[in-house]
Amino acid sequence: MRHTDHGYGPGDRGTTLGPPAYAEWGYRYWRQLSDGCVLVGGMRHRARAEEVGTVCLPTATIQTFLDGELRDLGVSAPVGHRWAGIMGFSPDGLPLAGPLPSSPGVLLLGGYTGHGMGFAVHAARGLVAHLVDGTPIPRWLDPARAPGPGAVV
Ligand SMILES: Cc1cc2nc3c(=O)[nH]c(=O)nc-3n(C[C@H](O)[C@H](O)[C@H](O)COP(=O)(O)OP(=O)(O)OC[C@H]3O[C@@H](n4cnc5c(N)ncnc54)[C@H](O)[C@@H]3O)c2cc1C
Repeated sequence: MRHTDHGYGPGDRGTTLGPPAYAEWGYRYWRQLSDGCVLVGGMRHRARAEEVGTVCLPTATIQTFLDGELRDLGVSAPVGHRWAGIMGFSPDGLPLAGPLPSSPGVLLLGGYTGHGMGFAVHAARGLVAHLVDGTPIPRWLDPARAPGPGAVV
């Protein structure tokens, strides 16, 4: 699924947004750096069908939502950067780390479901312990844990 961020400014020092904020269950967020730059992002929940895919480019629909968000926040600085990336979602929302049952010799580390910052270090730690010491992969990380529709096996 595609996920989009915008970086606005710098230079709109007249706008003060306060601390970073999330709204609509985290699908919509913004933050301001000390130099006045503002980042807004998210909004894919408003165009869910359009945002499923593997093309790593911002779409017009989400750009329009994020431009509107900027206006609503009272920011008038020009857009400096627009970017999008692809996020891999697992069927149960937990990461996948370990051997792929269907492909001997292949190890998987991913499926962070949009939370790479929080999940990646724990998933990597589990996989490294398995490789170095033979520690069993925790069930919650094992790619074989939950076969079913959309599962990676
Ligand atoms: C716009 C955006 C904002 C985000 N913000 C946050 C956030 O604030 N907090 C958070 O926790 N998570 C955030 N995420 C999610 C986070 O970025 C991902 O969960 C995490 O980066 C996934 O890590 P990964 O290593 O699985 O994949 P990636 O980081 O996508 O790395 C995959 C790598 O594989 C390379 N690659 C792809 N195909 C091939 C190939 N055929 N051969 C060789 N190399 C290949 C790619 O170039 C890339 O370097 C955000 C994602 C996006 C798109």
